[in-house]
Amino acid sequence: MKSIVTRFAPSPNGMLHAGHALSAIIAHDYARDHGGRFLVRIEDIDIARARPEFVDAIFEDLAWLGLDWEHPVLVQSQHFADYLAAADKLIAQGLLYPCFASRTEIAATSDPALTDPDGAPLYPGIWRTAHPDMVNERIANGDAPALRLDMDAALRAVQARLGEAPLTFTEIDADGIARAVAAEPERWGDAVIVRKDVPASYHLAVVVDDARQGVTHVTRGDDLFAAAGLQRMLQVLLDLPEPLYSHHRLVRWADGRKLSKSNGDMGLRALRSEGATADDVRRAIGLIDG
Ligand code: GLU
Repeated sequence: MKSIVTRFAPSPNGMLHAGHALSAIIAHDYARDHGGRFLVRIEDIDIARARPEFVDAIFEDLAWLGLDWEHPVLVQSQHFADYLAAADKLIAQGLLYPCFASRTEIAATSDPALTDPDGAPLYPGIWRTAHPDMVNERIANGDAPALRLDMDAALRAVQARLGEAPLTFTEIDADGIARAVAAEPERWGDAVIVRKDVPASYHLAVVVDDARQGVTHVTRGDDLFAAAGLQRMLQVLLDLPEPLYSHHRLVRWADGRKLSKSNGDMGLRALRSEGATADDVRRAIGLIDG
């Protein structure tokens, strides 16, 4: 059997909270218990929001939790050329098209009843069939496009590779039972693969790096469950290996509300300054009894 590689992949645009601690500890302990390797990856492609002080705080908080990880740590903003190279492979298959639509335009032209799994309006295809002259005119004006996946074409390309087999990903539940889950990437519509403002997107960077780092088990919160379907599609289109997935429960307030990074909810730093220990955090997120 391949040796196990897990990762914790935070975005340094805020402080870590108890929910991140659950993701990090699950990934860390799984690797440790199976003689595998645990990686931390800094997902800072959102260069407008990522801040070096948050990167430092992530390392400090993870060390406080008692975790250790391999060095050097992969920092995504240092690898934009690799994400563009992967996007080029999709362009060569005729699967990406430039889109100049603004958020406002998309909101105004999309069907309010149709949203992607993140709750954003489903892109109504405005630029999918745009005449090349229109595209060239915008480029000549100095406008930068996003590159979107032509989802219908991508579904056909996947089917051509898989034949009759459905596109699935493998989810391992908390009891270690594996099941095949229908990927349903079409729920994301013509997703952005290369953003306007940075030469990458979350979905593209994550599949490139999970493959490059030999990640065998993607463990992360349940809020990214639907993302696995689109990521699985990109893996097939880019000939990347398929990791196993485990999406764990989210840490919530006692009344069921989700934690929020921006409000500093259950921030590890705040818990620590209130005198909590790493074991108190493990207890609070249900990893040890008592
Ligand atoms: N960087 C993502 C986040 O902080 C997580 C990515 C992943 O685990 O796939 O939400």
